[in-house]
Amino acid sequence: MSVRTRFAPSPTGVLHLGSLRTALYNWLYARRHGGEFLLRIEDTDRQRSLPEHIRALVEALQRFGLDPDEEPLLQSSRVERHREVAHQLLESGSAYHCYCTPDELAAMREEQRARGEVPRYDGRWRDNTGPPPAGVKPVIRFRRPDSEEVVVKDWLHGDVRYLNSQLDDLVLLRADGSPTYHLSCVVDDEDMGVRQVIRGDDHLNNTPRQLQLIQALGWTPPEYCHLPLLLAPDGKKLSKRDEATDALHYLRAGYLPDAVLNYLARLGWSHGDQEVFTIKELISCFGREGLGASASRLDPDKLNWINQQHMKTAPVDVLCEGLEAQLEKIGLNPADGPPLEKVAEAWRERAETLAGVAEAARWAFSHEIELDEKAARKVLRPVVREPLAAVCAALAGLAEWTAADIHACIAETAESLGIGFGKLGQPLRVAVTGGGVSPPIDTTLYLAGRARTLERLDVALGYIDARIAAAGSAAQG
Ligand code: GLU
Repeated sequence: MSVRTRFAPSPTGVLHLGSLRTALYNWLYARRHGGEFLLRIEDTDRQRSLPEHIRALVEALQRFGLDPDEEPLLQSSRVERHREVAHQLLESGSAYHCYCTPDELAAMREEQRARGEVPRYDGRWRDNTGPPPAGVKPVIRFRRPDSEEVVVKDWLHGDVRYLNSQLDDLVLLRADGSPTYHLSCVVDDEDMGVRQVIRGDDHLNNTPRQLQLIQALGWTPPEYCHLPLLLAPDGKKLSKRDEATDALHYLRAGYLPDAVLNYLARLGWSHGDQEVFTIKELISCFGREGLGASASRLDPDKLNWINQQHMKTAPVDVLCEGLEAQLEKIGLNPADGPPLEKVAEAWRERAETLAGVAEAARWAFSHEIELDEKAARKVLRPVVREPLAAVCAALAGLAEWTAADIHACIAETAESLGIGFGKLGQPLRVAVTGGGVSPPIDTTLYLAGRARTLERLDVALGYIDARIAAAGSAAQG
């Protein structure tokens, strides 16, 4: 079977994480088999499908690189075609006019409930041959077939059987002429040439109805795959209000798009015990075989770990782009500091997220630093005053501010004072960054820049002087 998949979201303003996974699986499946991935925006609910919601959705997919192979199709532009098919079904006898008013339908349901039955349309207008009642606009209903059952063949669930008697005659066209979801979905999938429908489990019970429609129209059904839900880390249903369900939240929080996709791919699919995949690898490995039928829980620790693995190998410009946004987010000016690629290179092996890099590199972009009191007490002691002053003078005289020159300068100063390199490293680090953890000291000073380094060493010397003075007056007193 040829491969043409689609993602068919209803635009509500945010791209849900579960929807992103659905889009990803469709995209991967199409890429893997050299087929096409299509995007259909199901915007028939005009009140919720605002133009800005549609734009946000298309942009969110773009940010994750899940580009469709054809122009996105707006379902609202196809209403005429949906009506045409409804009338075709009417003519062939597979549909009929129903003149029930909303009040009548409500009463019907009430009676059924009172009898302990499941409420459903009772088919009272199915075989009407009389004249239509005056003044009532009819709906068009599908005449469900009389065969006993309908079988959905699903990649994950196998053959799922539904008794026809459990399904009622669904509305295809409402009284105002607007098509319903089932009709639009089936007609659009057919006209778009969709051959694989990969969507959420919540649609499984829609599929027998859609299959019946497809059969009545004489079309060939696509293959189906209904994906299990994504659950919150505690196993509960994901709340729409939780920001962790918004796919873009992860980019805002400093995760790399490819890492998020890798993480999502693995929530519901596996390939041996491999955890880390490039997008290329996902394309070459992704297939039905690895899909799992049970719901998966989000696992923030795993996302952090996968992101960390991707940080190590991501192209530096991807890191820089994300880092720029993260620095701005914490109120720092990315242009007022070292080149971003140097920052990215210095932390890519150690940070979990780009937000973590921005936070760790704060001292390289801020004008002031806060000395960590504990580290300063421990490291900026009177004994290091002289070596620190000496290295400060030597650094001030460096012709070029490169990590290699800084390294040589510290080594020479240490040697001339007869102390080890390490004795200077930690006081320099605490003086320049405010704390005891940073990249290698030559890189650290390079990143801080000469002006910031010398300024901060001055402050540190002042701090030591104050300690010396305090110790002196304590001794005198
Ligand atoms: N528009 C539906 C949704 O967002 C998807 C319909 C489908 O995939 O068939 O849930």
